[in-house]
Amino acid sequence: MKNIRNFAIIAHVDHGKSTLADRFLEITGVVSKGLHEEQILDRNPISRERGITIKLAPVRMLYKISQNEKKQVLNFESLILNLIDTPGHVDFSYEVDRTLACVEGVILLVDATQGIQAQTIANAYKAIEKKLVIIPAVNKIDLPNAEIQKTKKQLVDFLGIKNEEIYEVSAKTGEGVKELLEAVIEKIPSPNKAQHHVFESTSPPLSGGSPKSLTQKQVFSFYNNSKAEQFNNNFVSLIFDSYYDSHRGVIIFVRVFGGEVKKGDKVKLANLGTIFEVAEVGYFTPDLKPSEKLVTGEIGYIVTNLKDIHQVAVGDTVIFADDNSGLFLPGYKKVKPMVFASIFPTDSEDYESLKKALEKLSLNDSSLVYKGIYSQALGAGFRVGFLGLLHADVVRERLEREFNLSLVLTPPKVEYQDTGVRGLKKEPWVKVIILTPEKYMGEIMQLMQNYRSQFLTMDNKNQIILEYEMPMAEMITDFFDNLKSVSSGFASVDWQFIGYREVKADELRILINSHPIEEFSEIVVEEKAYERANFLTSKLKDLIPRQQYEVKIQGEYKGKIIASTRIAPYRKDVLVKSGKVLGTGDISRKKKLLEKQKEGKKRMKMVGKIEVPKEAFFKLFKR
Ligand code: GDP
Ligand code: MG
Repeated sequence: MKNIRNFAIIAHVDHGKSTLADRFLEITGVVSKGLHEEQILDRNPISRERGITIKLAPVRMLYKISQNEKKQVLNFESLILNLIDTPGHVDFSYEVDRTLACVEGVILLVDATQGIQAQTIANAYKAIEKKLVIIPAVNKIDLPNAEIQKTKKQLVDFLGIKNEEIYEVSAKTGEGVKELLEAVIEKIPSPNKAQHHVFESTSPPLSGGSPKSLTQKQVFSFYNNSKAEQFNNNFVSLIFDSYYDSHRGVIIFVRVFGGEVKKGDKVKLANLGTIFEVAEVGYFTPDLKPSEKLVTGEIGYIVTNLKDIHQVAVGDTVIFADDNSGLFLPGYKKVKPMVFASIFPTDSEDYESLKKALEKLSLNDSSLVYKGIYSQALGAGFRVGFLGLLHADVVRERLEREFNLSLVLTPPKVEYQDTGVRGLKKEPWVKVIILTPEKYMGEIMQLMQNYRSQFLTMDNKNQIILEYEMPMAEMITDFFDNLKSVSSGFASVDWQFIGYREVKADELRILINSHPIEEFSEIVVEEKAYERANFLTSKLKDLIPRQQYEVKIQGEYKGKIIASTRIAPYRKDVLVKSGKVLGTGDISRKKKLLEKQKEGKKRMKMVGKIEVPKEAFFKLFKR
């Protein structure tokens, strides 16, 4: 077994995770000081531009311990440090979940100018649940407005951490960073000392590879069980991420829990049953760097050469093809998409490209779900599920940029369930946890009343914690923006899905000359029906150009027209320009104009008898 430490940095968004990772990379000589971009692990261009991490990012470092500073606990000269940087935003928490299954410990970083925030707590609980070693650190101590003692007290109060265990660092200047890295080495156990959970299958070894053929009979700890010993000798690793490379097929990121693997080995996925020959193994520098093999405890990658992305799934266990032990790792909980939107290519000829793009992207973003749909007005597209609004936005941008597509995304909405009773639906609810300095508490509680929310509890530990339950549909309106504005940016939110509850709601249908337009209809809560119907009809009135006939735009709810407006008729004659009728002599010019008009028509969509420009749909869907 090699000397290894596997760890992650977790924190609320912007508290300095990626910057701290930069300093670690410098200390270990992976990059030269000052000779690289900031937040080196934020490799996605969208990450760089928006300044937020959207993907987990593994990197391997070699730490050399010089003789004179050699600590008692370390009886070796060098060791491998595998760090995984994580995103802090709640929409990307699945990246954190997958990361935590690969490491033995975490650095929990808190910005001393902000104090503990919602994702500090949410992510800390995830690490506690997994029984990982937590090294708390207060960051940005170089800033004049850093409140170091207050932030430390919050960590003590909220998470029961001992004051003297908390490190003080500046990821910017590097102060205290070396000590923090040494704490990682001393306090986080080497992978062979840690406990990991393994599942045993009750059924005979995989034949067809259907996940359903396996049941989770028992969970036992890795190193205290004879079965686990056997497991330890066999090659076994967890797929925690993947992406598609056009030359080398699917590349999987793995954490090895037992045995070792090298190029040429025949391996299979325990759940899917896919068998392939390992084309290359290696680790992250953070680029892919080939190595001879990957051994127990290591984090690295495997090139599969598989061209069909459906043959691979994140969370599956990679074992040797002839391994019939029936053991596999528990993998990951399936994520539940919370908001749904339809995506269409602006140019319907791009449908196939969009399909391929979604397939490839879903390999790199395993929280993404989608299925094909067809819209009369917008053509073939996909209904896509996301974890939240930021996720939806990032996915659209990744599809457009990484796959060179132009797309239309309908506004993300929650999914209602039918109850069988007219006018009654079930809607998703979430539990919301808000952290805020005390002085904004009153305004926040006032604000919450606008969102059909129910107050649960309140706690005051020199930061107020408010707990509410509210419909997801309310949360994805302007809630986050308004919360930020009433708290001057100080309040932070975490949320989780809690279940479905009944609500008076029905479909609001938009009729154009009595013809319902499916693309514009949506489920609306009864108390918001009038407001929404008026908004949609008047917006459409602005977006639909005048026609030769009168256009009537109506909103229908529960069989009743609740909003109505009209566009007066207008006869457009392109042959009359600036008041002058073009002479018959100017044939070619006339032809040109008529052709132009014809082309314009192609861009129109016949909706009932009315032509609605495709742009009207696009504009209506723009937030
Ligand atoms: P992440 O979202 O947790 O990865 O945070 P980043 O590493 O992207 O940092 C967010 C911002 O805080 C960036 O502008 C960093 O330059 C800044 N930052 C991070 N650590 C420090 C620090 O110790 N001191 C100061 N002054 N700024 C910091
Ligand atoms: Mg980051």
